[in-house]
Amino acid sequence: MAALCWGGKVLPRADLWLTQTGDARPEAAPSFCMRLPVASPSSLLRRLTIAAVTALLALPALAEEPVTVADIGEPFAGARPVSLEKAPDAAQERSPIRFLLTFDDGPDSGPDGSTPVILRQLADNPVAPGIKAIFFVLTAHPRRGGGPAGQAQMRDTCAAGHLLAVHSGLPEGHVPHTRLTPEKLADSLRSGEADIVAQCGHVALVVRPPDWAHNDTTEAVYRQLGLGMLMADASARDGKIYGWHISLRRRSHMVSELERVGRAMATHRLEPVDGVVPVVVAFHDTNDFTASHMTEYLQILVDAARENGLPLADPPFYTDTGALEHAAVVRAAAGVYARESWP
Ligand SMILES: [Zn+2]
Repeated sequence: MAALCWGGKVLPRADLWLTQTGDARPEAAPSFCMRLPVASPSSLLRRLTIAAVTALLALPALAEEPVTVADIGEPFAGARPVSLEKAPDAAQERSPIRFLLTFDDGPDSGPDGSTPVILRQLADNPVAPGIKAIFFVLTAHPRRGGGPAGQAQMRDTCAAGHLLAVHSGLPEGHVPHTRLTPEKLADSLRSGEADIVAQCGHVALVVRPPDWAHNDTTEAVYRQLGLGMLMADASARDGKIYGWHISLRRRSHMVSELERVGRAMATHRLEPVDGVVPVVVAFHDTNDFTASHMTEYLQILVDAARENGLPLADPPFYTDTGALEHAAVVRAAAGVYARESWP
């Protein structure tokens, strides 16, 4: 008989005394002794391996609590057989994510305007320079795209390689599409598209409904006009209702938004487009807090993805206008998002 003992220490639950490759890690193992009849070192090793595998397979519940010295009586309590529950190729199968940034309610132009502040940071930042985004604009509101300053801003935005699409084409501005008759909605969308084409020569064939409000009738109108409704997987919740409140804990908020994205990917609700999973993130370029913290938001997105174990594409944001537009159109056509309701 040989006694085999390892020193006891508190282990975090992720620590395994057997690693994924099956190497013994006696320095990290809980304290316990095994008495085994041993004929030779190789026989001991074989018996230990059999004992370990048998114990791991016999474990019905994977404890969430840390393993402590109190668990000595049950040496394998708390051990999570990672190598058994995650096939190695499962991780490899996961496509990397690429953030598809969208901004609603602008343009916010002029010397103190938020849109130019955001554009500067998208172009030049330490996270991913040259980011291209989609701006869902209010094309006819006098203080947005309906005045000369707003029109100049729309020209600047698309000249910088971003895409413009309709949020509302009404002079009244931010009116939910669900409040309009189908005829009025169709007219306003056509007029909004014409406003964008007049400044940019091109309009992205996607639409973001104001207040996220949509129904079968509005969706039928979008389809009729060849527009895809693009909602979002994650929201910064920086719209006028949430604004300052959420900005105080925007890091933890984004971590939980991307946790939802991870779940949607795991259940194949989000599928890759051109080799990457586009993750649509909604901001408001009319929010001056968002504008002054845009670079920080970019870092928060990347950090939150890593925190959730989501592999990032290189670059982690769209920097190619054509790829951005294709991803947006495909995601809108699929009509499935990590979120199922929107703020
Ligand atoms: Zn809006």
